[in-house]
Amino acid sequence: MLIQSSPLTHSNQYSADSACGHCDGVIRHEAWCITQNAGVQYAYQVVSDPALLSTGDHLILHALGAAWTPKRIVSRGRQ
Ligand SMILES: [Zn+2]
Repeated sequence: MLIQSSPLTHSNQYSADSACGHCDGVIRHEAWCITQNAGVQYAYQVVSDPALLSTGDHLILHALGAAWTPKRIVSRGRQ
């Protein structure tokens, strides 16, 4: 009977279930993970709810010609 010992045996001790759903971090979160970074949390929030965009950011986007609006703007030309 041949017993194979794989050098990778110990690298799989963490199951995918214990990994963070956002950054896949198992032992620690990535710096950009939403659970760690307030800026990323804010970015997620304003994407899901444009009303949460701060006045300052609204002005910056307005100055850049961008409209941060919950309305879906359909672009013509394609399709
Ligand atoms: Zn994470």
